[in-house]
Amino acid sequence: MELRDKFGRKISYLRLAVTDRCNLRCQYCMPAQGIDIVDRKELLSYKEMYRITRVLSELGVNKVRLTGGEPFVRRDFISFLESLSFNDKLDEINITTNGALITNHIDKLEELEINAVNLSIDSLQREKFAKISRRDVFDSVYDTLEKLEKSNLKLKLNVVVQSGVNTDELIDFVELSKNRDIAVRFIEEMPFNGKGQRDIKEEWNFNKIINHIKKHFSDVETLQDKKSSTSRNFKITNYKGTFGIIPAFTRTICNDCNRIRVTATGMFKNCLFDDGVFNVRDFLRNGASNEDLKEVFLETISKKPKDGFVAEAQRKSKVVESMSTIGG
Ligand code: SAM
Repeated sequence: MELRDKFGRKISYLRLAVTDRCNLRCQYCMPAQGIDIVDRKELLSYKEMYRITRVLSELGVNKVRLTGGEPFVRRDFISFLESLSFNDKLDEINITTNGALITNHIDKLEELEINAVNLSIDSLQREKFAKISRRDVFDSVYDTLEKLEKSNLKLKLNVVVQSGVNTDELIDFVELSKNRDIAVRFIEEMPFNGKGQRDIKEEWNFNKIINHIKKHFSDVETLQDKKSSTSRNFKITNYKGTFGIIPAFTRTICNDCNRIRVTATGMFKNCLFDDGVFNVRDFLRNGASNEDLKEVFLETISKKPKDGFVAEAQRKSKVVESMSTIGG
């Protein structure tokens, strides 16, 4: 038994949001006052998350990304990581974090053999960082970056490209890969900001980003991407690290998508752009057995939409939610 959709795509990667709470208020993700967070009992418990992951791993999911909200704001997150690390069917546990709270946890993450940390950092300038995230935490995030770089953990940086806000820093971000073994990834901005529209002056899509970088560097090499990679990857000749672009909005990576999501309230998503296909939490709390779960996962995934455009067209509601609710 394996998870395969009707386009033949095999699903092996779960993105699990462990909370909808976040310590930052990034402008492109949510309004200044934050989002309407749900009551604690509506969040999946760690036991429920463990069970969902275990059942999915028995159906071939071998990679999990923990995200949120900010995963490290949820109490006992490290203990949850510890229990997940006992699941021998998982080859990789990855984390996406804003890094503001994790400086003291890096040794523990190494000990638990976490595979990679994706650190979100949208500006290398302290004041601009504070303006974007509406919190003055640049120093601790940068400290985390440096500590992660020295650790055994793979480090990827997530940079949301925001028209007229940080587009003047794209070259500085590529330069970070000169002497560091890191992957800098530029993400196309999506409308998941809690209000549904993007107030942007110019569309910084994949083509515009790569053309901008190529204007500056004459020696951009195109790398061979791993199957189902979310980013198209490049490097500057002789630079230690790489950079990539995630076409999150233009959605040219759906062809070999291997991903599913479960939100912090247990909403199962076949695609980032759908509005949730069924609630696993309610199903579990109504007494579903692991066999029932398997059956419903197989059935739901078989109906995964062809791409993010089809998923969006099938939505019952408009795109207004924050990435913090979805789990980025
Ligand atoms: N709190 C963690 C963090 O900051 O990385 C994990 C959750 S966050 C929602 C996951 C990723 O989604 C981050 O890299 C963030 O920059 C990205 N993101 C949030 N809103 C976005 C948007 N509207 N468009 C593109 N990426 C977005």
